Amino acid sequence: MPACSTKCGKTAILKRPKTGDALCKECFFEAFENEIHYTIERAKLFRPGSTVAIAASGGKDSTVLAYVLKLLNEKFNYQLKLVLLSIDEGITGYRDDSLNTVKQNKEDYGMDLKILSYKELYGWTMDEIVAEIGRKNNCTFCGVFRRQALDRGAYLLKVDYVATGHNADDIAETVLMNILRGDIARLNRCTSIITDSGDGIPRVKPLKYAFEKEIVMYAYFKKLIYFTTECVFAPNAYRGHARVLLKDLEKIDPTIIMNIIKSGEDLKVAETTKIPTLTRCVRCNYVSSQDVCKACILLEGLNKGLPRLGIGKSSKVKRLLKENEEKTSSCNSKNCCNAKPEKSHCLCKTTIPSIS
Ligand code: SF4
Repeated sequence: MPACSTKCGKTAILKRPKTGDALCKECFFEAFENEIHYTIERAKLFRPGSTVAIAASGGKDSTVLAYVLKLLNEKFNYQLKLVLLSIDEGITGYRDDSLNTVKQNKEDYGMDLKILSYKELYGWTMDEIVAEIGRKNNCTFCGVFRRQALDRGAYLLKVDYVATGHNADDIAETVLMNILRGDIARLNRCTSIITDSGDGIPRVKPLKYAFEKEIVMYAYFKKLIYFTTECVFAPNAYRGHARVLLKDLEKIDPTIIMNIIKSGEDLKVAETTKIPTLTRCVRCNYVSSQDVCKACILLEGLNKGLPRLGIGKSSKVKRLLKENEEKTSSCNSKNCCNAKPEKSHCLCKTTIPSIS
């Protein structure tokens, strides 16, 4: 191996995927950490004295995020209180094992940990949802419920920010996915390093410019403990196609990842494009772009034996709701109260508990 390109006098042991530089272990750590520090400083991600919930799955990204945030917080005196927030989707053989890794991180990094489960929030585990709906749209349910569960966890913990482990590859993939789907509204906001979830608790992405390969290298050389198994319900996720495309492009030129992110950042959306405005769900009071949020519609579908409710266009959802309203005066629960329906549901219908 050649000498480290920083001229520190040591032998290089790796070639940085992002820059092609040959570096020794210590110089790689320093470059990687300094870039994340620069990202945090330039975007003014955190106010001093804030509490930050790190969305922790036990995977490489959130493990490296927790480790590096702790390190930078101490090194540069950000004055942050860091806590771990995990969502248990209820996926046997996947999330139960990865949560053990998060519990280990809690011990290793000395951070408080809050775990919220789909079962306690929605009354369903992902195992039960997949048994009901099959493996086609499972990620739609899981993604919608997780987004809201993180908001609920942040609200419960009274934190100022939620930091997620989205890396450069994730963001480039999302840009490609939104282009492939023609989803201009999402394309417009998917590269933002700070997103407003609408409840005053911003979501931030400190690893936005960190390459996935470098996160893996960092975790490997630092000997961090993280969970590597893929979700057992993953193979049909649409994102997988964008991932394969990105990996093929990256083989031709690694700078393509940054180029895609930059294209997304500089994109100007036409004034005629309809961008949804955020409001409050009339049922659960959580943030929504419709009167009733997607999580409440999906949950209603599950509870009423209409699992396809909420999948597809909103006009179809309204039609299904109306048809069901005409067909039944009660929910499909075994223990239904059989009360006269109030709007589209009887009184015992499970709703997501309101926050206020
Ligand atoms: Fe949930 Fe789909 Fe991710 Fe599995 S792959 S954790 S089902 S979103």
